[in-house]
Amino acid sequence: MVYDAIIIGARCAGSSIALLLARKGYRVLLLDKARFPSDTLSSHFIHPRGLVYLQRWGVLDTLLATGCPQVHGISLDTGRFTLSSTVLPLEGINFGLAPRRYVLDTLLTQKAIEAGAELREAFRVQDVTRNGTRVTGIKGHTTTGTSAVEKASLVIGADGLHSLIARAVEAPTYYRYPALTCIYYAYWSGLKADETSLHSRPQCVFLSFPTHEGLVLISVTWPRHRFPEVRSDIKKHFLEALALAPAFAACVRQGKQEQRFMGTGDTTNFFKKPYGPGWALLGDAGYHKDPLLGHGIADAFADAERLTQAIDSSFTGQQPLEEALAGYEQQRNREALPLYELTVQLATLNLTSEIQQVQEALQGNPEATQLFFAVLEGTIPAATFFAPEHIRAILTRA
Ligand SMILES: Cc1cc2nc3c(=O)[nH]c(=O)nc-3n(C[C@H](O)[C@H](O)[C@H](O)COP(=O)(O)OP(=O)(O)OC[C@H]3O[C@@H](n4cnc5c(N)ncnc54)[C@H](O)[C@@H]3O)c2cc1C
Repeated sequence: MVYDAIIIGARCAGSSIALLLARKGYRVLLLDKARFPSDTLSSHFIHPRGLVYLQRWGVLDTLLATGCPQVHGISLDTGRFTLSSTVLPLEGINFGLAPRRYVLDTLLTQKAIEAGAELREAFRVQDVTRNGTRVTGIKGHTTTGTSAVEKASLVIGADGLHSLIARAVEAPTYYRYPALTCIYYAYWSGLKADETSLHSRPQCVFLSFPTHEGLVLISVTWPRHRFPEVRSDIKKHFLEALALAPAFAACVRQGKQEQRFMGTGDTTNFFKKPYGPGWALLGDAGYHKDPLLGHGIADAFADAERLTQAIDSSFTGQQPLEEALAGYEQQRNREALPLYELTVQLATLNLTSEIQQVQEALQGNPEATQLFFAVLEGTIPAATFFAPEHIRAILTRA
């Protein structure tokens, strides 16, 4: 059988597009080398801009029913003062969520299956098949060694940062920046946390938020050049960073670390051309950025909607596939670039004097503070907040 789409990677990008395409009646094969439920290397905060997609797809209520705590507040402790706010609502959603990936990804695979997609777990794709320059399918094998070749009108790589599909088709890379940070995180029990709490200190940022099972995720981000040193003794460096906020460190000492540290220095930033003859990319496979602001999951959802629209408009004869996919790339870049540039700037962990001055001036100004956090949450564009007349108004009022 020839599928309409074979999707490699069944986490937040792959399962999302599988469910959207299957709901439109397309024959979808969804492959992953992992089995579900399973965890992956990722912290997992989703801002309202990501939850909007889950709401639209009818998945948000099911996710909330898993007991994932709603996070309505956010604070930033700069070491000299603390800014705090409630989350700026977007389409009626006034909270963020941090679902464990083994919950979120499994839920999305289940929704894709319910919609009619065929999921094959523990299946590792090894290469694409071709007819001339056109990709026509994939070949791979199960963990028990059974080989298979499958054919499709479109092969979609949702296979993450080190995408095999992107490598196989030699997808060109652009807007590239080197890795700027490294990050480690772990989970604690016995801590009280009902908001996203950020601490910025010279050359490090740490973050905490509540997740499933009463646990709190705490992460520390350092400049990338410190990765070898941090990795050599993660716990020591992690606790040294937290000690820069003594009250927070004292709270953490009251709790119990429940899992080992997870982390990476592989925080490279790039876009890839996300389509070619017979293939397309989405999620981290096509666009990867530093995890500092936590937008990878929402961006994967956004890609899933954009790419579904492009594929559907071509498969229903409204426009040639090449043209539809070119539109997908343009739309992705237009919508993703502002947050990408902000992420790269903040990932240097060196705040510009303008941002520092604005943060100072936000004290005692709750409306503007909420808008400032909304920029980090991706709800309003940085260009709107940092427009000269808006900044002038904030500085004048301070
Ligand atoms: C430390 C860290 C913290 C982060 N924190 C956040 C955060 O708080 N909020 C947020 O929104 N984002 C965060 N991110 C980013 C987020 O994890 C990613 O953007 C997101 O996982 C991308 O989803 P994806 O589906 O594109 O890829 P992935 O989640 O990487 O999934 C790819 C899937 O493809 C499968 N696969 C790969 N190769 C093959 C193959 N050859 N054959 C079969 N299957 C294959 C893998 O098994 C995997 O299941 C963080 C990332 C990191 C590393």
